[in-house]
Amino acid sequence: MVEVIQEGEENGNNMPIRLRLPSGVEIIGLPTENFYGGEWDLGPTWNYLILADQPFLVDTGKFGMGRKLLTMMESAGVSGDAIEFIVVSHGHEDHDGGLFEMVESIRAKVKAHRIYDRLIRFYPSKAPADVNKDFPASCWHCFMPESFSNQHCLVYHQERSRLKIEQIGDGHCTIGKAIHTYHVPGHSPDALAILVGGEALIVGDTVLPQITPFPSREAFFGQVREILQAQYTHAQSIYGLRAYIRSLRKLEQIGRRFTDLLVLPGHRLFYSNQWNELNLQLRINQLIEHHIDRCADILRILQQGPKTAREIAVGHFAEPLLKGFGIMMAENEILSHCELLRTSNDVFLAGDTGFAATGSSNFESLIRSLEAE
Ligand SMILES: [Zn+2]
Ligand SMILES: [Zn+2]
Repeated sequence: MVEVIQEGEENGNNMPIRLRLPSGVEIIGLPTENFYGGEWDLGPTWNYLILADQPFLVDTGKFGMGRKLLTMMESAGVSGDAIEFIVVSHGHEDHDGGLFEMVESIRAKVKAHRIYDRLIRFYPSKAPADVNKDFPASCWHCFMPESFSNQHCLVYHQERSRLKIEQIGDGHCTIGKAIHTYHVPGHSPDALAILVGGEALIVGDTVLPQITPFPSREAFFGQVREILQAQYTHAQSIYGLRAYIRSLRKLEQIGRRFTDLLVLPGHRLFYSNQWNELNLQLRINQLIEHHIDRCADILRILQQGPKTAREIAVGHFAEPLLKGFGIMMAENEILSHCELLRTSNDVFLAGDTGFAATGSSNFESLIRSLEAE
């Protein structure tokens, strides 16, 4: 089923592949490398070129990868000019970093969820007081130090903010002949899954093999509410762990409706010289159990008394994951779970920055009761 077009590295870097769907439609997998430093390797971003009636590309790798992606495409015998449009799975830099460069060279249209169209823009007069006004709304919650952002992100954001976006709506939309999108917010508020002819489902970072995608936080909604479309009135419908789990349930429904779907993730399709076949149902159940276990462990840690998110992170995560910027990622993850634990009344705010356990344990039934919207 998988034809390797060109050998690459053992984590999948630079290894274009060809997949043939039963209908004859071909999908070219284009893995572009990521390098974020540190010991942990995310592996490449898997971008997908769908050779349907109207050929289109999903994602463009990280900043600087646009050219490389075109070269890889050519090695698969497809010229960039063949692409009619590009779909953004979600507005994270490892997925849309190469977008501006691609658009400049092949003049393709860009389709993305309508929240993306708002988050990539700059609003110097509307930014909350305590955020970096020199960055787009997507970054108002960023926890990286300003020195890092100025060096690594500024040009990417300036270019990205100039893109013209054809907006994709909520729920289920049709963007081409037998090509459908589903809004699956949670990891990112603008996340989409793309269904190709009822045969393949491109899931971006919402479902990954081997790694658990991080959920966003409901708290981010307060910062951007004013610049989003007026129909977004509830944080938990587009941000945070509750939104994420509902989106997993939505994908599960799609999986039940279209059996034998080929599920294509944004990372780890191939890693350590191995293919990671994604069984949607199984993987979604694993991810939900993972979040239940994480909430349970947070409550266990809080049995010793009130703690800050950072203290909980140190108690919960293995030490290597806390190195460098890892601690900030870990803290963010804990805060996201604490939001859910506060909703289930298992945790309350203690002082300015601390969390304490109420003694109850309602989170599991809350998580299990979340359904696709
Ligand atoms: Zn992502
Ligand atoms: Zn990613």
